[in-house]
Amino acid sequence: MRIGILGAGQLGRMLALAGYPLANRFVFLDPTGNPSAGIGDIIIDPDQQHLDEFLAKVDLVSYEFEHLSVDLVRTIEAQKPVYPSSEAIRICQNRAEEKALFTRLNIPTPQYRLVDSAAALEAAARELGCPVVAKSITEGYDGKGQAVLRDPAEAAEAWASINHPQLIVEAFVDFVREVSIIAVRGRDGQIVFYPMAENQHVDGILRYSIAPLPDLDAGVQATAETYIRALLDELDYVGVLTLELFQVRDGQLLANEMAPRVHNSGHWTMDGAVTSQFENHLRAIQGLPLGDTAARAPTCMINLIGREGDNTAILAIADAHLHRYDKTERAGRKLGHINLLAASHEELLDKVGACAALLPEAPSPRFSFE
Ligand code: AMP
Repeated sequence: MRIGILGAGQLGRMLALAGYPLANRFVFLDPTGNPSAGIGDIIIDPDQQHLDEFLAKVDLVSYEFEHLSVDLVRTIEAQKPVYPSSEAIRICQNRAEEKALFTRLNIPTPQYRLVDSAAALEAAARELGCPVVAKSITEGYDGKGQAVLRDPAEAAEAWASINHPQLIVEAFVDFVREVSIIAVRGRDGQIVFYPMAENQHVDGILRYSIAPLPDLDAGVQATAETYIRALLDELDYVGVLTLELFQVRDGQLLANEMAPRVHNSGHWTMDGAVTSQFENHLRAIQGLPLGDTAARAPTCMINLIGREGDNTAILAIADAHLHRYDKTERAGRKLGHINLLAASHEELLDKVGACAALLPEAPSPRFSFE
């Protein structure tokens, strides 16, 4: 099977690494002009001049990032199977559409308003009560295009700094922790779920994910599964879907956003689960049986952001698995990750602390169950 991937970053790279054992071949269509996958056949195409060449080389198409032109994906869909569908992209690239879908499917979210001027932003901040988070409706990721307002009077400044025609303004959630659930739906509608992960973000960028969680109520996992199942079935979705949630004090979950693809908070599955999210995505889109999602052991994923650490020392840690993306160092850039496995969560937290000390810019790891 020749698989075409829209986008050519590290997620595409890891999809390919998971697909070679299945005898898949990969062709990437890179719309950015800056591919980093470093694997497979990469067609650099910022001006959409090489679509026919790409389509001639592939049997089916998937993608590794959602900020794509929906028209482009629809054009491709008319010629080759695309999983997940262009409808999933259309919704996931627009925070207003996403929130509306959550609400329609009875998935709770933070309170929010849509605004299209600085004055409307100020009014929404007053109505919801500060602090609020203002986010651009489209194009935002990793905390970009966002501002926290501590006072409605900061609206003009926030509006100017985000510089986008429409924003979503959300009540600031006083969460106990951020979590995510990843699920996979096959072409036949079968769904499997990974254990939920706890995610630590700093400045909007994921730094640590840990799964499974030692203190997660089975009811909370079941609730998250109900939410993501509703989304998968509604979208007749095929492949991996990620739902990021806030867990609040009473255990309730509020949906933050979803991603129609393999996700950074699922990188722990590469070493920590029986079947990785990447392999399961490839199985799903090819109509193959889905693999076991069970965790092998308590696992923590540590992102390498901006600068790499002492890789020799990291590799000397027992059951540490280094995944480098072969990128050059740059502030804020995702360069790789480390998966640490241990027999218990206590041992895992010790390992995480030791490993973080080998990374020049790692924030101190903090988990809700420590
Ligand atoms: P997002 O791009 O929506 O995932 O936001 C990036 C990060 O900002 C999240 O992972 C949270 O840490 C924080 N954040 C976003 N929205 C809210 C909110 N409504 N309340 C509290 N924190 C938030």
